[in-house]
This record gives sequence, C-alpha cells and structure tokens, in this order.
Amino acid sequence: ALALTLAACGGGGAGATGGADADDDADMEGGLVGVAMPTETSERWIADGASVEDGLEEAGYDVDLQFAGDDIPTQQQQIDQMITKGARALIIAAIDGTALKGQLDAAAAEGIPVISYDRLIRDSENVDFYVSFDNFQVGVQQATSLVEGLGLVDENGDPAEDAPKGPLNVELFAGSPDDNNATFFYDGAMSVLQPYLDDETLVVPSEQVDFDTVATLRWEQERAQKRMEDLLTSTYNKGETVDGVLAPYDGLSRGIITALQNDGYGKGDKDMPVITGQDAEIASVKLIDDGVQYSTIFKDTRLLAEQAVDATEAYLGGDEPEANNTEDYDNGVKVVPSYLLESEVVTKDNIQSALVESGYWTADEVKAGV
Ligand code: BGC
Repeated sequence: ALALTLAACGGGGAGATGGADADDDADMEGGLVGVAMPTETSERWIADGASVEDGLEEAGYDVDLQFAGDDIPTQQQQIDQMITKGARALIIAAIDGTALKGQLDAAAAEGIPVISYDRLIRDSENVDFYVSFDNFQVGVQQATSLVEGLGLVDENGDPAEDAPKGPLNVELFAGSPDDNNATFFYDGAMSVLQPYLDDETLVVPSEQVDFDTVATLRWEQERAQKRMEDLLTSTYNKGETVDGVLAPYDGLSRGIITALQNDGYGKGDKDMPVITGQDAEIASVKLIDDGVQYSTIFKDTRLLAEQAVDATEAYLGGDEPEANNTEDYDNGVKVVPSYLLESEVVTKDNIQSALVESGYWTADEVKAGV
C-alpha cells in the first residue's frame, strides 16, 4: 500500500491511478479549486482571476474560474456548480457581500474552506479567511492625494506653505453599497477630509456627503457619469467650478471625467479638477500621465493572488493560513482572520517607478492607454 501511495503522490493529478488510490491522491495534492470573480468589465478582476488561476495550477490544482457579469444569481449559481463539481476549496470575490449565504452553508456542510477574496463576505459564520488590502488605508491615501493635488499639503502630508485659502469646492463619490470595501474606503477618506470640511477649507456645494447618497451601485461608470452631470446642472450652473472630486475607483473617475469634459472642463482656463481613483487601470494611468486624472491607488493584484493561493494550500495541506490582522474585519457574525497587503498612491511622478519598473504595465501600454 505504501508503494502504491507513493506512486500516486508522484503521479500528480487524480486519475493517474485508479480506484481508491485516486481518492488518496486527491487528499495529498491537486484537486479542483473554484474561483468566483465578480465581473470582467473591470480589468483588475480579469488580472486577479488569471493570477489566481496560474498560481493554483502551478501548485498542482485544477481550477474552475468563473466571472459573473456583476449579476448576483449568476454568481450564486456558479458557486453552487463549483461545489457540485467537487471543489475542495473556494476563493470568492463577492458581488454582494451578503448574498451568498446558501452557497456558504453548502460549502461548510461539505467541509470546503472558503477564502473571501478582496471583498469581505458578510453575515456568515462560514467564511474561513480573508485576503485583501488595508481598505481603510486605501481611503486615507485617496483623500490624502486629493488634498495634496489641491495644494493643501506637501508631498510629506504636511500643511503646504502656499496653500490656497479656500474654500475649495469638492464633490464626493463612494463605491457600491453592497461591497464591504466601499464603506472602508469612504470612512478612510473622510477621516482625512473631515477636518478640512469642518474648518471650511473644503466645501461640498451639493451638500451630498452621506455614504448612501454618494454611493455608486455596482461601481458603474455610467452611474457616476450621470451623477456628475446632475451635480453640474444642479449645483454648478452659475459659474462656480469644481476643484476636486473624491472618486474611489478608476472606472468611476473616467465617468466623472467624461461628464466634466462635456461641460468644458480641461479646456481654456477651466482646469480639470483634482480627481482620484483606484486600481491603476491602464486607461486611467494614461489619463494621469496626460494630466487629466490626478491619482490612482496601485494595489498589486499579483501579490493578492499569491496570498489566496498560499491560503488555499495551507487549508488543503491541513494547516491554517497565516493572518496578519485578526481585528478589523468583523463580518457581522465573526471577525474573519485576514491577510492585508499595502497599497500605494500613484501620480504622474511615480508611474515609472511604481507601475513600469514593477512590471505591472509597460511604458508602451502607459503611452497607448491599452
Ligand atoms: C475593490 C477595488 C475595486 C472595486 C470596483 C473593490 O471591492 O477593492 O479595487 O476598484 O471593488 O471593482
């Protein structure tokens, strides 16, 4: 039996040996891992999916990678099918962090570990681990770059000597209300902006500051464009200008930029406001290089994928993955042990060092924007 077992191990994938030994083999290495990603409309999730798939395949697993077109029932169905197909572990970036209860219960009943990928899955006991970035800090970085772009602080975050006296007009956007990250980003950003709003260095002429009012369902670019158009019509119709926009994701930033350009911003003496973003999407990196968008947040999804693969290997090897945060991510039922990575602000000044030298984008891609 020992010889057979060793042969099964060396043989790699299940099926190389037959009968009962195939099961033994599945316990030792390999087997299927389900990877559920939210959508292909944003390039980061395509990159995430590809990196996770590559990493798992290198580690000897078969991968069922699915994208759900931002449709909740589709994602539920995809995860149901992964469980039916015999997935040994699930890596899930949820569309709606509260909508997967049935799937999680089914996974738990089968003893399948669930790794919540980038977005915390909420309201369930059956989430084993969370891999993400420090999402509050992402918001802090977005708002810090906004006030830096507005000239209120220098590059060290200290008050700028020649800071404009204000008040400066800013408008605020948040992400999708069903994505746990969106509140973290917004709270982080507001922790930086609130003192400026309190002393009226910054004002929000639309008075829209509640998370629910400024949130953007499904992170949709068109929705952000429409809201910016409405703001321009309702609030900036007597010659006032927008000086800055807090935008939490590059897709939304591009929608906001389109609305502003259609209103004459970026031409003549009507400067483009300072606009933030997130994800270092290539179209936005080009806009930053061209001086249209001010900043984005670079989150190296290759490193996040690696964490997800490591966590999967730990579980399937009978261990627990290593957490570096066991405090911040309470999903409503329990605090989910987490591994959080750091993010980095990118402006025109460090596209080269942050994105090109790290191999995330090539210089040609930055120039072309694709
Ligand atoms: C991610 C961001 C992304 C956003 C929209 C969030 O959950 O953390 O990186 O910009 O979803 O896809």
